[in-house]
Amino acid sequence: MREADFEVLLRLIERLDGEQRKALGRALASASGESGAVRLLEETFAAAARCPHCGATELQRWGHASGLRRYRCKACHKTFNALTGTSLARPRKKACWLRYGEALAAGMTLAKSAAHCGVHLTTSFRWRHRFLRAPAATREVLGGVVEADETFFRRSHKGSHRWRRGDASPERRPHRRGERASRRGLSAEQVPALIARDRAGHTIDAVLPGLGADAIAAALGPVVAGDAVLCPDGAKAYAAFATGRGIRHEPIDVAAGVRVRDGAFHIQNVNAYHGRLKGWMRRFNGVATRYLPNYLGWRRTLERVPEPSASKTWLLAAVRPISTANAN
Ligand SMILES: [Zn+2]
Repeated sequence: MREADFEVLLRLIERLDGEQRKALGRALASASGESGAVRLLEETFAAAARCPHCGATELQRWGHASGLRRYRCKACHKTFNALTGTSLARPRKKACWLRYGEALAAGMTLAKSAAHCGVHLTTSFRWRHRFLRAPAATREVLGGVVEADETFFRRSHKGSHRWRRGDASPERRPHRRGERASRRGLSAEQVPALIARDRAGHTIDAVLPGLGADAIAAALGPVVAGDAVLCPDGAKAYAAFATGRGIRHEPIDVAAGVRVRDGAFHIQNVNAYHGRLKGWMRRFNGVATRYLPNYLGWRRTLERVPEPSASKTWLLAAVRPISTANAN
């Protein structure tokens, strides 16, 4: 803006009434919030720019759209921006995204998050699960002594009708998949979540369809290193998985009163994690089972990222490519 115009603008401000001043304040805050979120996303993308369609890195700048820089891939000729292919691909209300990151960092409830960002409750719900989709799907590789144990959550279809309209999840109907699977102490009202954690703090979580060897293998197979020592509770399903993969297996028979074997083998770290997870989850008063993976990923991200209280942490986590990756 020209200096002379800016002087006029400043003089005009003196003539604003109270309501107009407030409105102007909100507009300024919104404008600077948007540029903050967009700058962060654009810079992060540009630092390691690659085509989300084919992975090529030879890109051309291709103007702007929806407030974001566009690129064109020299290999596949498709155009895209920093958010293409991410959970935040529909760029609306970007000005509030960093504030939503604050809400996630603080573990706010839906209503508090909505008030914190000045958005509707349904928007708060939709954003929670958009922001958490990528963190929930991120997988670390576990090595050394790997403790593994399940914890249980009450099965809940909460919200499956109320939120249907605003929910982008493809899995819409309450479902009962897998309930007939092996039920070691598992009732239809309980959903098992497997947590596995190594001594360096690398952690994975998985909502299990059952407690059989297949479910355990599906959850642990892709993430446990071949030279790891698996240290689970005494369940046979883990033994089957470990034997099948040729992984050393040191079960802890907690039910028989064993806590530590050979000084090194125990599941106290993973059980302490269960305790922190459950304590933190209490504020949500029970969560819909189909969203449980997102809450597990939320808690895991809080524990694993270097700056869990920084709003940018959550905005960048939301747009991370989903893959097996080390979170460090
Ligand atoms: Zn391409």
